[in-house]
Amino acid sequence: PTQEETFTYRAEVDRLMDMIVNSLYSNREVFLRELVSNASDALDKVRFVSVTNPDVLKGREELEILISADKEKNTVTIEDSGNGMTRDQLLSNLGTIASSGTRKFMEAMKEQKGANDNLIGQFGVGFYSAFLVSDRVRVVTKSIDSDATWGWEATAGSHEFKVTQETDSSLKRGTRVTLHLKEDAAEFADPVKLSRLIKQYSQFISFPIKLYSAKKEPRKVTDEEATAKKQEAEDKRAQEKGEEPKKVEAVTKTVYDDVWDWRMENDNKPIWTRNPKDVSDEAYNEFFKQTFSEFLDPLAHLHFNVEGTIEFSSILYIPGMAPFDQQTYASKSRNIKLYVKRVFISDDFDENLMPRYLNFIKGVVDSSDLPLNVSREILQESRITRVIRRQLVRRSLEMMENLASKEGGEDYKTFWEAFGRNLKMAKAAPFVEKLVSKGYEVLYLTDAIDEATITNMQKFGDFQLTDVSKEGLELEADEGEKAKEEALSKEFSDVVDFLKKSLAERVEKVTVSNRLTDSPCALVTSKFGWSANMERIMRTQAI
Ligand code: ADP
Ligand code: MG
Repeated sequence: PTQEETFTYRAEVDRLMDMIVNSLYSNREVFLRELVSNASDALDKVRFVSVTNPDVLKGREELEILISADKEKNTVTIEDSGNGMTRDQLLSNLGTIASSGTRKFMEAMKEQKGANDNLIGQFGVGFYSAFLVSDRVRVVTKSIDSDATWGWEATAGSHEFKVTQETDSSLKRGTRVTLHLKEDAAEFADPVKLSRLIKQYSQFISFPIKLYSAKKEPRKVTDEEATAKKQEAEDKRAQEKGEEPKKVEAVTKTVYDDVWDWRMENDNKPIWTRNPKDVSDEAYNEFFKQTFSEFLDPLAHLHFNVEGTIEFSSILYIPGMAPFDQQTYASKSRNIKLYVKRVFISDDFDENLMPRYLNFIKGVVDSSDLPLNVSREILQESRITRVIRRQLVRRSLEMMENLASKEGGEDYKTFWEAFGRNLKMAKAAPFVEKLVSKGYEVLYLTDAIDEATITNMQKFGDFQLTDVSKEGLELEADEGEKAKEEALSKEFSDVVDFLKKSLAERVEKVTVSNRLTDSPCALVTSKFGWSANMERIMRTQAI
């Protein structure tokens, strides 16, 4: 190493490290998941760059994660052939943290009252989990944007870290993180233990994770003893017969050696490319938690393939809880990860793939119809995007409907409490589309008590309150509209008769309505009956 320089962490990093070490102590094995996830991110980046510039892969073609342990030295090493870091990136990425992220992390940590290991992944502070198990951490990195190799080193509990330019050129590209384990964390310098952790936490990483480990492999050797015995017997036989003894064939036996090699630990075929029939609910849930740094199981998932002129596959999820950041509705989400032919492109496409009111839905989309160098601009204009978006919306709503009709209703309740707000923003219900198109304001009153209150109130100041889910919604209409309505009533009278007949006792009446703009029909309740909402409430209480 040359030119050693010492830097001081930003103050909040110090505090953060304390917090991580203290609150996650009982779950310290998550360090491996965090470092593997960083390696995977770095590999995603270099793969993306290599699409337009294949030269970045020269000298080391493989995109992989290598993990090894050294019992004697008490170390664990995680190496990736990702994009690596320049000196500046090293300083900013592993020495400072955007203070807002840190503050939010700390608040969330308090709210959760301690140990919630997936939080560190959510707030972009995962790297520091290395200090859960290490006295000293050393990083060597070679960026695709620089010829120099840089080293970074820090000791647990110190306020400083050192950066050096390295002369060792064994690392062609990427990052190697070496953990010098604490005495009481020596158990991690064991491939058997590491293998278990990789399977538990990182099975959905879409790059090969290779662990340097031993495997017992059979080998055939001559069994000298048995061969000698056999020869003895032959000699004896020959002597008795007065013949010349033959040389017997050697007897062999199987011995087992520990053979050390890099062994693949994960099935890196992306889960969305598998047949849904072969994927268990647990696997979908685990994929969700690993991919989105979530710690609760999702409330629902939907895995589907779209075929035809535009082909893509997707897995969508309704998370198990609302994000900590309560501004979420307003802020950008990074919840839909777009892949093109399995290459991760971006999760920063704003509302191009999902409308704002559904931005709580998380998922992956993989299309082979978009160009690999797709940009936000291309996405915005592309017909393919519109088709994908339409499908994603449809499937999201389908997922919610499934959830609503699920027995017990508990999950839907959880859902509504967490994300109901988003749906209210959409105003997408058929009941209100005309109102919205005419610029009326709509109050969403979905709490159990709302209906009773409003029915009794009737009026608010000068405003008449009307339940739009009931019959008798009367909107101002000009002469033209009235004439059009009458004409439509006549035109559709046969359809109305037909519906009346086929729905028979199940409905009170069928009418041509002026309340809709886009939807073909809406179910409403009669003026004096219970609203659908009230019926739902009564049904839950009738048990
Ligand atoms: P996050 O991954 O959420 O950004 P981390 O604390 O895990 O937060 O990592 C901080 C940053 O350090 C990353 O965003 C990345 O820029 C950089 N980094 C960490 N590990 C690697 C790696 N193996 N290769 C390249 N960059 C890395
Ligand atoms: Mg990370």
